Amino acid sequence: MTANFGRTVGVCTYCGETKWVSADHVPPKNLFPKPYPTDMWTVPACDDCNQGFSKDDDYFLIFVMERHHRDKIRKRFRSVLGQRPV
Ligand SMILES: [Zn+2]
Repeated sequence: MTANFGRTVGVCTYCGETKWVSADHVPPKNLFPKPYPTDMWTVPACDDCNQGFSKDDDYFLIFVMERHHRDKIRKRFRSVLGQRPV
């Protein structure tokens, strides 16, 4: 007996191969605070593709967070420096 860990055999959305697939969240789950919404969109993805995109998901999250904090820092500088461009 083989454990399938919630996977089924299906067509991977990304590579198009028929193999074991699991639900990949689109957009990535890490963009949302916990508890996660229960109605998130998912697509079937094989382990190779799902894991291959996990670093991209982390990178995207870091990029978005950095942008958010950069904007907050610039706003703070503008208030301190009297609306002059930073
Ligand atoms: Zn795949």
